[in-house]
Amino acid sequence: MSCTSDTHCITCSDEGVSMRVIELLGDGIACCAGADGAPAEVMVDLVGPVEPGDTLLVHAGGCSPNRGRGAAAAMKYVDEYRDAELGRVLAGEIVAIVEPGREYKIMEVCGGHTHTIYKYGVDDLLPANVELVHGPGCPVCVIPMGRVDDAISVAHIPGVIFTCFGDMMRVPGGSGTLLEAKARGADVRMVYSPLDALRIARENPDREVVFFAVGFETTAPSTALTLKRAKAEGTPNFSCFSNHVTIVPPLRALLESPDLRLDGFVGPGHVSTVVGARPFEFIPADYGKPVVISGFEPLDLLQSVYMVLRQLVEGRCEVENQYARVVPADGNPAALAVLEEVFELRPHFEWRGLGFISHSGLKLSAAYAELDAELRFEIPGVRVADPKACQCGEVLKGVIKPWECKVFGTACTPERPIGTCMVSSEGACAAYYNYGRFAREREVV
Ligand code: SF4
Repeated sequence: MSCTSDTHCITCSDEGVSMRVIELLGDGIACCAGADGAPAEVMVDLVGPVEPGDTLLVHAGGCSPNRGRGAAAAMKYVDEYRDAELGRVLAGEIVAIVEPGREYKIMEVCGGHTHTIYKYGVDDLLPANVELVHGPGCPVCVIPMGRVDDAISVAHIPGVIFTCFGDMMRVPGGSGTLLEAKARGADVRMVYSPLDALRIARENPDREVVFFAVGFETTAPSTALTLKRAKAEGTPNFSCFSNHVTIVPPLRALLESPDLRLDGFVGPGHVSTVVGARPFEFIPADYGKPVVISGFEPLDLLQSVYMVLRQLVEGRCEVENQYARVVPADGNPAALAVLEEVFELRPHFEWRGLGFISHSGLKLSAAYAELDAELRFEIPGVRVADPKACQCGEVLKGVIKPWECKVFGTACTPERPIGTCMVSSEGACAAYYNYGRFAREREVV
């Protein structure tokens, strides 16, 4: 698919790409075109009937249930949700609603939210006593070094073509990166979707093709659909090294953390297109904190922050859905069904900086064991400690801001990252670096 925007993370696809359907190719695949006009194959199994001319929100080669009819359907949102005058009005309402002298700490869960906040300067519009804390919602950032080393080890097996998203090629493990492994002779290839990896497997029947699957519930359905296809068509040389993770367990772990005091959450938008709003109800029920599921445009975020603050000021805590134009309360039943069929929860999974979290990772279910790279190949599975200088764990938990890390912008830059948060464009450190946030210098509104 043609997700080539430099502002878009193709790995977690938090920012879905708006694409227009050009032609139906059959077997649940449509030829679509993005803003650059380049054609790409997109799996449309998880939406209702699709016709040429429809606009779809595409994540890593699959698409969310929201859609519009006709080319103008998506563009209308961009115009409305980036309106500067409306933004000033919302900022004024936020200033009016906060109680002077009270400190508010709100976590935005998604890396895509962090990216929007710094790209558009959303935080500059907030009063000084409203602090945004960045959460663990960037899937590249949370992959531990040991899993990267495992991937490199598989990539070096003779005869293997190792496929992964572009961001993952630059994530450092203990023994370097996949990009460096490629330079040393491993056949590592960047793909834009798991469907690309399956195509490579079909084209190379005498090679083993492994797909390095990462991402939250947003991208896991695309991997699941691809595995279903591989199984149905019998592509024996295709397998998946699953590192998919789920969003609820790390949020619970953060809420249990003694390090962190949070007042509320801006909830993950595109994960919620799959899981819906209900999985977040434990946050108000068990921890008494408000959650507002948010879209990714600057006004979405301003409105969501306002809605969290309004709950706090009114003494309420519940899950509200600011992103109702995309997120159904019950999520996408078709996507949830395919996840249930293809994956099962691991007893525990390691997160970079957060340690092992119970039932937070997905592995292939018994029905798909034949396509599981962890069963097909010998995986070292060695745990590797983060470099001493790396403070990604504290950034991911919201304990420190990126610029407070001792190596931020010096030894650690997007060109030469030490930690994962500097790799993906949606990692908090990369967002701060790319938008010049080398220190917190905010004007009081
Ligand atoms: S600056 Fe680099 S090492 Fe420090 S927290 Fe960010 S990504 Fe990790």
